[in-house]
Amino acid sequence: MPSSYQHERDVALKAVRRAGRLCQAVQEALHAPSATATGGPEGDGAVREKDDRSPVTVADFGSQALICRALTEAFPEDPVVGEEDAALLRDDADVRDQVVRGVQAELEDASEDDVLAWIDRGNAEARPEGRYWTLDPIDGTKGFVRGDQYALALALVVEGEVQMGVLGLPNFAPVEHAEQVTGLLLAAERGQGTASYAAYEDDPAPAAVTASPVSDPSEARFCESVESAHSSHAAAQEVASALGITREPLRVDSQAKYAMVARGDAEIYLRLPRGGYVENIWDHAAGMILVEEAGGTVTDLDGRALDFSQGAKLVENRGIVATNGRFHEQVVEAVQAAGV
Ligand code: AMP
Ligand code: MG
Repeated sequence: MPSSYQHERDVALKAVRRAGRLCQAVQEALHAPSATATGGPEGDGAVREKDDRSPVTVADFGSQALICRALTEAFPEDPVVGEEDAALLRDDADVRDQVVRGVQAELEDASEDDVLAWIDRGNAEARPEGRYWTLDPIDGTKGFVRGDQYALALALVVEGEVQMGVLGLPNFAPVEHAEQVTGLLLAAERGQGTASYAAYEDDPAPAAVTASPVSDPSEARFCESVESAHSSHAAAQEVASALGITREPLRVDSQAKYAMVARGDAEIYLRLPRGGYVENIWDHAAGMILVEEAGGTVTDLDGRALDFSQGAKLVENRGIVATNGRFHEQVVEAVQAAGV
């Protein structure tokens, strides 16, 4: 099948690569010894708390600005449904200045007004007809602030179906060599498979990515959130035991978990939310298509397909089960039997 979204994929990869550089610079500054010592503007001063008490950083805003700017230039008619808006920046001159400087490191001529307007370009509504983009400029902000994994997640949804997704993992390190931070970019398009690219080269060659061939669930490696508030570790342990899994879970922040299933670093990703939490589309659209196009399967806890036609939240779904596709139903059955 010929690629229908080659241009979209090229624009998305370039934008995510550029925004990833900004994010890495902010994360490095956050963890630089001088920043920790002074808590100064490039240190803890880069982090704020949103109304829902979740953290947001200079990099979340800068990343959204750069990616929305690229989408605006290439696809001016397309709505972008992003996680952030510029309201906090309008009241906080310190963070605003840091965001503008961060964006200017990539785009010299960007003005403050440009940056705020680009961020607010990401406040469109998800719609059931036509096409829209969904963007998480930094997924796993808690991991980002801790100095761990995080992702930049961008996906194109057409008529309620995810058609293309790009995931930037600037801090990616292979599971067996956690000290070797290489970074990684992944892209998938419906019917075209999943590819990975070097994170920091300008025009890297794609390498095909396929999910793990392991077919015995008891040999599976499973991954879950670091944050037990986002996914019950106890319930996942119950599911793992029922499947005969003895290996310890891999706890990783962000949609890096989807990347691990797509790449065959793990066979299962369980997201077992607490208290009726409803998932955001930008936390799953890119990750889901990466896994599916690598040969894996993604559903909710009831085995239903994720429904991206219902607005900014996955209101028709609860939780996530992503697998390499070899024993998906068994995992869903184990989740159901555990009463999650
Ligand atoms: P993770 O890094 O996999 O733990 O997921 C990070 C994402 O969890 C964030 O982008 C949030 O949108 C989402 N999130 C926030 N609160 C919750 C919650 N109570 N349950 C599940 N996910 C949440
Ligand atoms: Mg997120």
